Amino acid sequence: MIELRGVSKRYGDVEALRDVSLEVRRGEILTIVGPNGSGKTTLLKILAALERPTRGEVYFDGVRIDEANTAQFRRRSTMVFQRAVVLRGSVHDNVAYGLRLLGLPRVEVDRRVGEALEVVGLSGLKTRSARRLSGGEQQRLSLARALALECELLLLDEPTADLDPESLSVVKETISRLGKETETTIVMATHNLIHVEELSDRLVLLDRGKVVEAGRPRALLLAPSKEMARFARSENVFTGASRTIEGISHIDIGSGVEVKAAFSRSGRVSVHVRPEDIILSRGWVESSARNEFKGRIVAVEDLGPIVRLKVDVGRVFTVQITGRSFAEMGLNLGSEIYLTFKASAVQLIQRTYNAG
Ligand code: ADP
Ligand code: MG
Repeated sequence: MIELRGVSKRYGDVEALRDVSLEVRRGEILTIVGPNGSGKTTLLKILAALERPTRGEVYFDGVRIDEANTAQFRRRSTMVFQRAVVLRGSVHDNVAYGLRLLGLPRVEVDRRVGEALEVVGLSGLKTRSARRLSGGEQQRLSLARALALECELLLLDEPTADLDPESLSVVKETISRLGKETETTIVMATHNLIHVEELSDRLVLLDRGKVVEAGRPRALLLAPSKEMARFARSENVFTGASRTIEGISHIDIGSGVEVKAAFSRSGRVSVHVRPEDIILSRGWVESSARNEFKGRIVAVEDLGPIVRLKVDVGRVFTVQITGRSFAEMGLNLGSEIYLTFKASAVQLIQRTYNAG
């Protein structure tokens, strides 16, 4: 549907995108992931024809976007910005606004507004002043406004950032439904893969303006390159010397911590443990898991329904548990805690991505 060829974008001295070549396929949900400042928003704006590349070319259905046809291509996509844009007036008015500009007949406007509000769960608030909505509801309103335009390409900038749990599930559900039930092509940017991994058909990892990885999420996350492992989980990537004893690798990751992995590999290795594969407990538990460490919580990051913790066992591990378990276990910063994970949860990092 869209193809970028060797696209670079400069803002003064900042090179926001560097030689990006990328295809967006019709009907897919493509997720652009990367740390803050890696160029995600810039990439979406170029796909939306809101920005022009400094170098390189953009093709939409095989036609090169140039100065003369930019306006025409802009109408084919809708971009939902990270910060919800809320106009004066009611919730209904906010969604109807763009449709009225298109000159659609009133019945059509009402039908589309009704449907879009239904999808994002705001039907009940139709007559409410939009500026009175909560932050999460405003985000959903922005999404409804974009849906009502029924564009073939929907560009979402950080659609799951800073949402309350209810809004988060509505937004995820909406994206998933659009992906399954309509032809809409969706490109979304996020710095937090946790929420969108399962929705995405394809992931592209951006790092300092360059594409460093692209592929199916499962493949990338099950056999991650170092870049992907670092980014996707941002944590729990360790390197050390490994000795194989009876088919199990014993890896010295430093500070007296030895990780046991269910593969045979001697020498220097890098491994990754997914935070969700680590079990937390208040005391030692009887289990067949080969990795058991005692440590202390050194950081707590509240993500709503899921809480991420950093636990220092000599090396720092990132783990995650539900907010409910966190409360029930009476955990807090400084709490002593035990980590358990299976040897089979330790993934060997073997690929280094070769861009190009
Ligand atoms: P992300 O969305 O991944 O956080 P952005 O695309 O917003 O990244 O930004 C990439 C880089 O380009 C950053 O260094 C940012 O400061 C810079 N940048 C983005 N937009 C502008 C702009 N309008 N003017 C100057 N610098 C910009
Ligand atoms: Mg951004």
